[in-house]
Amino acid sequence: MKFLRKICKKKSLGKNHLLFTSLLPEMRGKQVPEKFMSEIRQNIITRDWVIMATERAKRPHDFVSRAPARETLEKYKKDCPFCAGNEKDATEEFVRIDDESGNWQVRVIANKYPALSPKGDRIRNDDGLHRTISGIGIHDVVVESPEHDAIFAFMSWKHIYNILLSYKIRYNQIRNDRRLEAIVIFKNYGSSAGSSLEHTHSQIAATPVVPFQFRDRIQEAIRYFDDHGDCIVCRTLLDEISTQRRIVYENSSFLAFIPYAALTPFHVWIFPRMHSSSYGNISDEEMVDLASILKTVLLMLHKGLGDPDYNFTIRTAPLADNESRYFHWYLSIIPRITKNAGFELGSGMFINSALPEESAEYLRNLDLSDTDNP
Ligand SMILES: [Zn+2]
Ligand SMILES: [Zn+2]
Repeated sequence: MKFLRKICKKKSLGKNHLLFTSLLPEMRGKQVPEKFMSEIRQNIITRDWVIMATERAKRPHDFVSRAPARETLEKYKKDCPFCAGNEKDATEEFVRIDDESGNWQVRVIANKYPALSPKGDRIRNDDGLHRTISGIGIHDVVVESPEHDAIFAFMSWKHIYNILLSYKIRYNQIRNDRRLEAIVIFKNYGSSAGSSLEHTHSQIAATPVVPFQFRDRIQEAIRYFDDHGDCIVCRTLLDEISTQRRIVYENSSFLAFIPYAALTPFHVWIFPRMHSSSYGNISDEEMVDLASILKTVLLMLHKGLGDPDYNFTIRTAPLADNESRYFHWYLSIIPRITKNAGFELGSGMFINSALPEESAEYLRNLDLSDTDNP
């Protein structure tokens, strides 16, 4: 250890020199004092390396002040195509779910400005250097509420259940289109999460190719399955349950936790306990539990971090891997409380200044006694 300190001093490597000393062969397999060095963790599901910057670690409440101020919205806006009463201005409707009084509560409609078009054939061109495929696919908007000022985290769990049900119905409407390979379900909340519309909504997109990140994760899952004979997500679930330290919330069908090597602060994964590759196969009971746990975690982020912008996405298998034993779908929530910088861009590695164990404990201990969870 003295030897290493000497090297660092001698070369005057600056504040971050400690990050790189872990690469020195002398240190392999040795325990490093916490103050001396950051820990670099690998996320075995994504294979990403993350520098847990313990030297500049922040306390959980230090992330609160970064939350943006929201505008106060009206219940109805005349020129909003998503508001109840303005349906005539909207595009084609694919799914409508009514509330108990028979009024619509959730609608899935075509995106007015789609990135992909539903009509046309899938045609590939490739001359060795320039590869294209026709831009066919699905790009829908899920209007999550008839009210302009609704906030996802404050909806009733039954309302959230209906949103999750609309995802499932639409997923199963489009899963058999042979031109499509993958379906992405996601929500952008707030401008730093990429949302440009005030009215609460999420999106469903289907692509004619398997996106690289899907392919990459499938390959990792296959590799793990081949090496260990088990699903990597099922194994991670067992590990998190036995460790307990990173669990944020749990119910009979799901576990919410901050991954051991979370890429960014307060990044939460919600894993279904039952092995299943596809969100399209989710059971009714699971949807009730997912509504409850999703609402709880979003409320925790809202209360604990002061209503941050966030994205959530459902990571489900490509359509051809619908029933696989090695891929396990899950939901990922990423609060937008830090920005990626040059290091992340240049290396593909991440620096996380919040320790997952500490962040999970902070969220777990919040008082959510005013929720209506089942
Ligand atoms: Zn509206
Ligand atoms: Zn599994």
